[in-house]
Amino acid sequence: MQDYLVRRILMDCPLCEKEHEIEERKRISAITIKGEEVEYEECYYFCNHMKDEDENEFVPAKILDENMKNARNAYKVKKGLLTSEEIIKVREQYGLSQSDLSNLLGWGEVTISRYESKAIQDEAYDNILRLISDNPMKTYEYLNKNKDKFSESKFLIIKDKINKNLLQYGKEYLKRQILESEYLNYIEPSDFNGYKTLDIDKLESIVSYFAKRINNLYKVKLMKMLWYSDALSYKLQGKAMTGLVYCHEDLGALPKGHYKILELENINVQKEEDYDNTRYHILPNNNIDFSFIDAHEMDILDQIINKFRNYKASDIVDYMHHEIAYLETIDGQEIPFSLAKEIKDF
Ligand SMILES: [Zn+2]
Repeated sequence: MQDYLVRRILMDCPLCEKEHEIEERKRISAITIKGEEVEYEECYYFCNHMKDEDENEFVPAKILDENMKNARNAYKVKKGLLTSEEIIKVREQYGLSQSDLSNLLGWGEVTISRYESKAIQDEAYDNILRLISDNPMKTYEYLNKNKDKFSESKFLIIKDKINKNLLQYGKEYLKRQILESEYLNYIEPSDFNGYKTLDIDKLESIVSYFAKRINNLYKVKLMKMLWYSDALSYKLQGKAMTGLVYCHEDLGALPKGHYKILELENINVQKEEDYDNTRYHILPNNNIDFSFIDAHEMDILDQIINKFRNYKASDIVDYMHHEIAYLETIDGQEIPFSLAKEIKDF
């Protein structure tokens, strides 16, 4: 993985000036950008005819551009800025060309085109791009402010696209509010939420991560795995991950508002009718990136997945029934994290 062969290409070698097979190779290299050292994947061509180590590599212009783009993206990731691909996503969300988006925001004609290729955006510009990505109402405000930069027909097309985003945004916002309303009594960190307030972005990411890694994930098992993740996180880091509050129920720990969790826009649930029973099949949401989950949390989730991967719903319910947190609480009671952290075998 450190330095590997991608392919061999027959070409006129600019180093030894013969036609022969050149190796296209990749390696992790370091570069300093704006005073910050970042590691990125670098592609280069290798001539095995040249004996001098300083003169046996070259990088064609097109590959050099690609390398620089990788390096700048690595810098952007390190600094928490949107990558080129993420900026393209924001733009495509509203069906805009590069110059359309620049005009809409009142920026220079080529600003977006530069951010998608060569330049690194300032934090202020980055914040605006995130703002309009998250909130179509803001996009609409910008469009109105810079209305004179568009023809009337173009203006109407963009406005229509923003309206469609707005509809989706409204639905998502409403579903989140419904879940949040269940947590009004838990807006302070406490023993009941594991000293973490409700984090819906992270919750959606975790659910999708579980669904991606586990086949046939259904509601009961998912809810137990969420509890174990929060309990283990509390045990190891003194803090839960999701901010969910769990109650003692027949089937073990169950988060408050569990039906509302499954209704969230970014949670992919397929309802399956099974005799007189509705089963909730949890599937991954491919639009979710996992950046809300940090490396320690990812490690905790992997431990939970490895432990329970092959458990059926009834197995994990049985298992949970033997936890101190379950034995020492009664039906309907909130399960405090001071008991949850006593989970066995972790
Ligand atoms: Zn050569």
